[in-house]
Amino acid sequence: MLYQKKKRYMQTERRIYAVVLLLLVALFVGRICKGNVEAVGDAGLLIRLSDQYQMGTVYDRNGNVIVRGTDGGMEWNGDQEEQESMESLFGPDLEHTYASRMTIWGMAPELFGYGDERLDLKGLLHPGEARVGGNVQLTIDKELQTFIYSLLKGNGMENAAAVVSNWRTGEILAAVSLPTDLPDETEEGISNIFSRLYSPGSTMKIILVAAALSIDPDLASYEYDCTAENHIFHTEEGDYRISCAGNVYHGRMDMAKAIAYSCNGYFISLLQQLPKDKLAERLKNWGFDTTISFEQFSYWDQTFSGEDASEIEYLLGAIGQGNCSITPIGLNLCTNALLNSGRLQEPVVIQKRSASPDDDMRSCLSGKSYEVCNEMTADTVKKMMLGVTFYGTGTDFGMNGFAAKTGTAQKTDEEGNLSDCYTVWTTGGLTDEKCPYSVTVCFDNVSGDIRSTYAGQMAKEILEYMTGGEK
Ligand SMILES: [Zn+2]
Repeated sequence: MLYQKKKRYMQTERRIYAVVLLLLVALFVGRICKGNVEAVGDAGLLIRLSDQYQMGTVYDRNGNVIVRGTDGGMEWNGDQEEQESMESLFGPDLEHTYASRMTIWGMAPELFGYGDERLDLKGLLHPGEARVGGNVQLTIDKELQTFIYSLLKGNGMENAAAVVSNWRTGEILAAVSLPTDLPDETEEGISNIFSRLYSPGSTMKIILVAAALSIDPDLASYEYDCTAENHIFHTEEGDYRISCAGNVYHGRMDMAKAIAYSCNGYFISLLQQLPKDKLAERLKNWGFDTTISFEQFSYWDQTFSGEDASEIEYLLGAIGQGNCSITPIGLNLCTNALLNSGRLQEPVVIQKRSASPDDDMRSCLSGKSYEVCNEMTADTVKKMMLGVTFYGTGTDFGMNGFAAKTGTAQKTDEEGNLSDCYTVWTTGGLTDEKCPYSVTVCFDNVSGDIRSTYAGQMAKEILEYMTGGEK
């Protein structure tokens, strides 16, 4: 009797022991499979997960489905144009790239079950059931995204990028890039506003001015006489001649006029007033020669003049040429900081997310912000940017309260000689807090007759579309 009882007791004990062991193994395996929590960099894990999980659903900011997972694949929602407009943001299929951290796939790994409690009770009880990843809602407006894509394509642009964001909330509302993939040229085929680098041209001047004023506010009264003889710049390496666009001479320039008319000489001269080390330190705040890491994405390749730059390359940084490079998102965020009193709101692309399809999506807007420069500096530069569209290089796309800066950078050919191809930009935004939108438009590899004002006109059309303005 006692023996029987003991045997039963031992059986129960053994069973409990087995269950505990199984749970421990499950936990252990689960932990290993989960890997490093910083998944965005672990494209390999994401590829493995995408094999095991059916992808969840991606919605736009208005709740429209962009793409949803199906048994063994995915299904895009909407017509050809809508789908194409999204391609650069999503990038190639996961198995074709290890650079998915630059795309929605990498920013929203929960779509493939990342963060899901693997080997949980439900999974153990239903081993054959397909696992489905979580859902995400983007800050992207699908209609706006498609509108911009069609606008750029309709105007014959083959290499272009456009970013639209809300400078008060940090939400990225549209992120379009053409062409959608460049397998040989960029990191494993990802070609979007986060990954591609371009010469900023004269849009660099608003950043340089903000950095200069942060170093010495008295430079606000710095003047330069734009005449033929003053275009020769003396350095230890020798003298260099750097002209203004179209070889014009602007005459006496103060800072506001120099921004409005985009006087190259002024900014080269201003750069020579600044201590190199202090400027380099300040420019890090603006994303140059450093790694900028946000909660949802990072970038790190932007440079002012590059390591071991010659004097001439350093000077060319002032006008966004030479080795100077920026991403469309980087320039858009600099613009946002200037429009938002010097504070950059944490930029976001993923607005809401859930770990599994059964959970409600939860907001991932942290509301965090960073001081890029002080309020006085930002407001001063913003006022100068209003001058650009009011009386400067941007009168062609003037619009009430549109603070902007144009830029044109001449490209070099494979041998490093100046070519007849340009990168043209307009970056800016509405200063009105009720429509706090910023737009950065870039056309790359265009011929000389496509001017930066053309990018400005596209920016204006985008803002008019968003605010319901008249055409
Ligand atoms: Zn000039």
